[in-house]
Amino acid sequence: MTTLLLHGGESAPTTPVSRAGGLPLVPAGFVWPLCVECEGAMQFIAHLDRGKDVVSVFMCQNDPGLCQEWEPSAGGNRAFVFPAEGLSPAALPAEGETLLGRTVVLAARPFGSVRYGEEEAWGPVDGRSVLGQLGGEPYWLQNEETPDCAGCAQPMGFVAQLDEVANFGGGYAYVFTCDPCREAAFLWQC
Ligand SMILES: [Zn+2]
Ligand SMILES: [Zn+2]
Repeated sequence: MTTLLLHGGESAPTTPVSRAGGLPLVPAGFVWPLCVECEGAMQFIAHLDRGKDVVSVFMCQNDPGLCQEWEPSAGGNRAFVFPAEGLSPAALPAEGETLLGRTVVLAARPFGSVRYGEEEAWGPVDGRSVLGQLGGEPYWLQNEETPDCAGCAQPMGFVAQLDEVANFGGGYAYVFTCDPCREAAFLWQC
């Protein structure tokens, strides 16, 4: 079963729906993630609403291509699982490439059993750009790269694939979680 993420129009930066860009909605005590490589504040990429929780994705863009921001565990990106209750917009760091230029709603649309594939093969659906998929099977551009959970060392579960919503080198980004451990991971391939 494939569920596409379609361009759902632009929205306010704090809308509590799945979106690329805008402001992260975070729990009390949240500290904006810093890149291990350049020590700058990361860029907020996506808010994925899963009902009971939210997956929040960040990636360094202070020196694109120099911070291993495509690697799941090199410290150039971070992903979090937050309980859905009690979130509020994060305070923006004073410096760094912290936000995307616009906030785009990621609208889920069931698309039957056709496997997600190359964007060229999809074209617009319902007149809207395809910006990724929610769940289903990851479509890998390179070798399969399912990360192991930092908590329990088991392979993580696939959450979403994102295309072109941020600087993924022209490729695809992949979001994973381990729900028992409340761990999340992010990587991209091109
Ligand atoms: Zn960096
Ligand atoms: Zn785990």
